Amino acid sequence: SLPTIYIITPTYARLVQKAELTRLSQTFLHVPQLHWILVEDSPEKTALVGEFLKHSGLTYTHLNVATPRERKLQEGDPSWLKPRGAEQRNEGLRWLRESSRGQQGARPDHGVVYFADDDNTYSVQLFEEMRGTQMVSVWPVGLVGGMRFERPVVEGGRVVRFHTGWRPSRPFPLDMAGFAVSLRLVLANPESRFDGDAPMGFLESSFLQGLVTMEELEPKADMCTKVLVWHTRTEKPKMKREEALQKQGLGSDPAVEV
Ligand code: UDP
Ligand code: MN
Repeated sequence: SLPTIYIITPTYARLVQKAELTRLSQTFLHVPQLHWILVEDSPEKTALVGEFLKHSGLTYTHLNVATPRERKLQEGDPSWLKPRGAEQRNEGLRWLRESSRGQQGARPDHGVVYFADDDNTYSVQLFEEMRGTQMVSVWPVGLVGGMRFERPVVEGGRVVRFHTGWRPSRPFPLDMAGFAVSLRLVLANPESRFDGDAPMGFLESSFLQGLVTMEELEPKADMCTKVLVWHTRTEKPKMKREEALQKQGLGSDPAVEV
């Protein structure tokens, strides 16, 4: 049978959340044997996300954990100041480790783990590239790091360095969207997790360090020559008119979910 792809996605409440989750889930509907682990950055699971998942048509697990206030970006902070989604990804890892304990008949080590932010753009082909991951597989990411793309550079079938615009000396100068890990490796390293206090650009390295070496990385997407995922970002919608109308009692009906 096909290895299951476990997708861990951090998400948080905002005006575009349902739009992001709709686009993402409808990509995932094209992927066989996918299990979505959606982790809300909130103290409680919200009804919006719960209802959304129920009707998504996907196999899923709904989790939540709130980012502690001192770790959370404040309004007006530049987005690079603190890593986003670290606690939520760790919660997804915790669930995977716990749920694969003592399962009989199931094949807990027959899977792949991928961290998919809710606002990126994913080609369906990407998931077939990662499905055969033995330890850690890697590929290019488009529109990231102030570059057209970043990617591992492959020579003789092996990763020898990284094409990146910034601090190539980082242990793994890869975007979150640029790698997948086998479930077997995740389970064999129960302590490996994302360090929410990692300095800018070191979140991915904090997880991958200790799991693999550069030489062991498995290059996918035609030896890292194809871009199959894009680090897109969604503009925050302006609510100027809405706020003006609200003052006159003419705002959009709050009973309608957006
Ligand atoms: N995220 C979160 N809580 C936050 C901010 C972001 O859970 O306070 C999630 C977000 O939904 C996304 C991931 O963390 O899935 C990365 O965040 P974002 O896309 O804002 O990061 P960037 O694209 O700027 O690296
Ligand atoms: Mn993003």
